[in-house]
Amino acid sequence: MSNERGLMENIISLSKRRGFIFQASEIYGGIGGFWDYGPLGVELKRNLKEAWWRDMVLVHDDTVTPHGAPSAYAMVGVDTSIIQNPQVWRVSGHSDLFQDQLVDCRTCKSRFRLDQISSSECPMKPSKHPGEHSTCQLTEPREFNLMFKTNVGALVDPSSTAFLRPETAQGIFVNFRNVLDTTRVKLPFGIAQTGKSFRNEITPRYYTYRSREFEQMEIEFFCHPHESQHWYTYWRDRRFSWYIDLGLTSTRLRLRDHTPEELSHYSLGTADIEYAFPFLPEGEFGELEGIAHRGDFDLRSHMQGKLVRTAQGLEVETDAEGKPRFPGSGRDLSYTDESNGERFIPHVVEPSAGVDRALLAFLCEAYQEDEIPDLEGIPQTRVVLKFHPRLAPIKAGVFPLVKRDGMPEIAMEIYRDLKRRWNVFYDERGSVGRRYRRQDESGTPFCITVDTQTLEDQTVTLRDRDTTHQERLAIHELHIFLDDHIHR
Ligand code: ATP
Repeated sequence: MSNERGLMENIISLSKRRGFIFQASEIYGGIGGFWDYGPLGVELKRNLKEAWWRDMVLVHDDTVTPHGAPSAYAMVGVDTSIIQNPQVWRVSGHSDLFQDQLVDCRTCKSRFRLDQISSSECPMKPSKHPGEHSTCQLTEPREFNLMFKTNVGALVDPSSTAFLRPETAQGIFVNFRNVLDTTRVKLPFGIAQTGKSFRNEITPRYYTYRSREFEQMEIEFFCHPHESQHWYTYWRDRRFSWYIDLGLTSTRLRLRDHTPEELSHYSLGTADIEYAFPFLPEGEFGELEGIAHRGDFDLRSHMQGKLVRTAQGLEVETDAEGKPRFPGSGRDLSYTDESNGERFIPHVVEPSAGVDRALLAFLCEAYQEDEIPDLEGIPQTRVVLKFHPRLAPIKAGVFPLVKRDGMPEIAMEIYRDLKRRWNVFYDERGSVGRRYRRQDESGTPFCITVDTQTLEDQTVTLRDRDTTHQERLAIHELHIFLDDHIHR
């Protein structure tokens, strides 16, 4: 077993033991590609999404030009339906292009993605790639659409077929006009959305990395075509530094520009933010977020109809009678610049991130095993999750040193006071050393202990998770301290 694989097994086992991630429907044997977040996992996930929303939307100041941006810009949010009119997916291209090539094995009845054969394992022993055993019988590749189907209403027939969204982005494009008409935003501006997406992945794998139900955090940024290249560079760099600021500081994180051959038919430039997850083969990186310069592809499609690339550029795909094969809405999704009357279809830059993959990267990066001395000074291995305090599920543990002399009462008072603002945890069971370890494994950045000296001078012991350094702090300074250290 490679070190990296062992590391991943330790992370998965901690994550289950401490209640970060469970297999969905585990008591019934699970269901492939679906995961549940436990009490600590849900807090971590909420903090991650809130950090994104806060940094991208809420505290964004649309009167100031951020560093590296061509100008000031506005940001607003939406929350759109998981099920949209099926025409949305025909026009966007998902109905006939969002598919993978799959290959079945007639012998072992397994199914593989054609582009992943070289990294997949045949279930027969000894371990080999599909097709490499003499008994393997792989079928010819066939197309498989990744969208989950459902039916809307009581009738189950083709007219009631609908799809669970495979991305949140289309809900933003189809609301472009609504946002323009109901707010005072002017170009350039972005619309943000977080929410669940669904893809019937042929081979869900690598823990939560490739799931069938997952969450996305997406921004569609609308700008003038002349400025779009500049905005693309801005978002590409801005999104990369966001991960670093929240703690992905190792060389496992990288920003990679797509080669011209990799670009989608509509893309004028794409970069991926990637992480070298411990479960991937050495030297391989997995995508956390893609930042794409999509030109006017999306808005033009939803105006005119599904577009295809021809020698002349992107054109509406037509049927035998020369009519659009998948007609657009016919709505005017262009923009008129009030200052000079110029009318154009805005270009779009799309930073599209996955919540679950980012969470997994933060979990892998935070996981560390180090040695710290116990009460007798003997070094002991400890497992610690060094989350950035903004992401940490629990911000502080509050303990009485012992269950007497009025210490529990004071600790409880501190707990109740802090609890009004932060997720803090009260614990009076077991030795203080053991309580510290439990919080280390949960990724709690600070522990506050009420001890004998507290009774004399109203100070507490404040212990730092990463350094294990302890200092004394007055009770009335706790709010300021946590404010400074959590929201920095
Ligand atoms: P991949 O090539 O890995 O399948 P993708 O390029 O199809 O990913 P996008 O369509 O760009 O992914 O989706 C944007 C983001 O959504 C990805 O960067 C990823 O973080 C997340 N995502 C996509 N598919 C999945 C999935 N099956 N499970 C978890 N997250 C996903």
